[in-house]
Amino acid sequence: MNFLLPLTGSFAKPAAENPTVAMIEAAYRAMGLDWRYLNCQVDPADLGDAVRGARAMGWRGFNCSIPHKVAVIPHLDELGTSARIIGAVNTVVRDGDRLIGENTDGRGFVKALQQVCDPMGKTVVLFGAGGAARAVGVEMALAGAARITVVNRSPDRGQTVVDLLNDQTDARADYAPWQGSFRIPQGTDIVIHATSVGLYPDVDAMPDIDLDSITPDMVVADGIHNPPLTRLLKAAQDKGCKTADGLGMLVQQGVIGIRYWTGKDADPAVMRQALLDLEL
Ligand code: NDP
Repeated sequence: MNFLLPLTGSFAKPAAENPTVAMIEAAYRAMGLDWRYLNCQVDPADLGDAVRGARAMGWRGFNCSIPHKVAVIPHLDELGTSARIIGAVNTVVRDGDRLIGENTDGRGFVKALQQVCDPMGKTVVLFGAGGAARAVGVEMALAGAARITVVNRSPDRGQTVVDLLNDQTDARADYAPWQGSFRIPQGTDIVIHATSVGLYPDVDAMPDIDLDSITPDMVVADGIHNPPLTRLLKAAQDKGCKTADGLGMLVQQGVIGIRYWTGKDADPAVMRQALLDLEL
């Protein structure tokens, strides 16, 4: 029996306005794939049924966002290394009858960063300790970062990420309190901003970082994708720093997801343009 997916129902946002949908469907078109990527709103109480539905309908996989990133785990058969360490899943991949949970948040970030610098052996200052910072910290460690200082407003969350990095990876991590304007220590190679400060619509907000402590030899990266050129990145560029933006992180996560689902490489330039066309 064939089931036809009705194009009504509980879609989270009109598909044309959803950045991930726009980006992934643009990649599929450019790859000549007659595939679809749909966004559905799933109530937490319905998560198990939704995963069973994805299995039953033979989906190649799916992404899941907050609040499902942790809750989805008991419904899956296996976790990839990053998802296991991070404790959250944002990408699910079908392998035969099995559903494997992966986490591409941090891997997308590292892939985008690698276009300007290699994390191997580097000293990193990481602002934030939420889901994005946790994923980025773990992947930076797995990519060989030697030392990671986590700077976060609430100490408990910051220390939790530090403990995770020290317990589960080879990087050495420590916590630094964020009280007033934070001075980046000399000798830092990479500065990563992974809090939500500066996210649209608060585009004039700036993380409280002493810009005088940022030197041109540092690489500065921002996880905020909307706007792509945050005030922090603009200030860093004005100082002559190399930078990596959050749009690159989003695009590279999509490239990794498409590779998992289709086995093929998508064109990041096509995907970035699809996001820019949405006037993010
Ligand atoms: P969370 O809510 O899990 O964490 C938010 C983080 O921001 C916490 O560390 C929080 O600190 C900090 N924070 C919030 N407000 C302030 C403030 N006024 N001053 C200092 N710190 C503050 O969010 P996520 O980690 O999921 O997301 C963080 C950002 O990363 C978002 O902007 C999101 O858009 C972006 N992101 C980008 C992706 C991409 O592909 N480009 C992918 C995923 C996320 P505290 O612990 O003290 O509350």
